[in-house]
Amino acid sequence: MSKLTVIIPSFNEEDNIENTAKTIGETLSGAGIEYDLLFVSDGSTDQTFDIVEKLSKADKRIGGIQFSRNFGKEAAIFAGLDYAKGDCVAVIDCDLQHPPATLVEMYRLWEEGYEVVEGIKSKRGRENPFYKLFCAIFYGIMSSLMKMDLNKTSDFKLLDRKVVEALLDLPERNTFFRALSFWAGFKSTSVTFDVAERKAGKSKWSFSGLVKYAISNTTSFTTAPLKAVFVLGVLLMVFSLVLGVETLVNYFLNIAADGFTTVILLLLIIGGCIMISLGIMGHYLARIYEEVKGRPRYIVSRTTSDED
Ligand code: UDP
Ligand code: MG
Repeated sequence: MSKLTVIIPSFNEEDNIENTAKTIGETLSGAGIEYDLLFVSDGSTDQTFDIVEKLSKADKRIGGIQFSRNFGKEAAIFAGLDYAKGDCVAVIDCDLQHPPATLVEMYRLWEEGYEVVEGIKSKRGRENPFYKLFCAIFYGIMSSLMKMDLNKTSDFKLLDRKVVEALLDLPERNTFFRALSFWAGFKSTSVTFDVAERKAGKSKWSFSGLVKYAISNTTSFTTAPLKAVFVLGVLLMVFSLVLGVETLVNYFLNIAADGFTTVILLLLIIGGCIMISLGIMGHYLARIYEEVKGRPRYIVSRTTSDED
């Protein structure tokens, strides 16, 4: 019989682990699905991994790995894909914001032959308006670049083994899991789900964390900002041609304004554009630097099978 591996990225989720394992386990066995749970403790500093170890001793279907430090959710997901043994693999949040019942729905679609089952949020959960606006802008840009609606997508997905292998074959370190499953292609479908309230603990996102996430995902997925620099250059060029002609005409007509204001404004605008362009290029340079260094995506310090 085929097996489903459920990857659960967990960062300081000590209050959730036990309940999450129980809820997901009961839902899947209730539906007669053979499964194992893989908790990826993303450098948790609380009891998260100890609880996973305890559960693992009582139930062999539960296992986990612990990172040496916090490497981020993306790294946790990819570590999960690396370690997963199932014929299909699902990723679900540890706070039960993704309903486990949807896993069953996803699994049935996989049995019907779909290789990628995307979890689409029917509506976003309760979020503060500032966060919502930020997400809308970021996903608006990303969606138009990638020609798909990312705003409602999530990391909640089920992938066939073939897709997992394809994603693991990608050499890059800066990945964006949410969009990569679209990018990879394969026979896909989606299910919608309602985002539940977080069961316990707090969301791990800070505003600066989100900004970093947005920038890193944009630069890892598209070179559009670099092209925008070129467009900006062309616009400035046209602007300066018009202004240049006007200035020369005025000069020869002897009505040239002794305008300091214009000069200062121009200096500021062009200076600003140059700095932004350098910044954008700098980001890509940093990306290349990080990729070239070839450091691993994550470092595992412990796994639950260590003692066996
Ligand atoms: N998470 C993680 N590493 C991190 C941050 C979060 O593995 O650095 C996990 C977290 O434990 C949870 C999931 O990613 O299972 C989603 O995180 P969270 O609930 O904080 O985000 P939100 O639901 O608010 O977007
Ligand atoms: Mg959450």
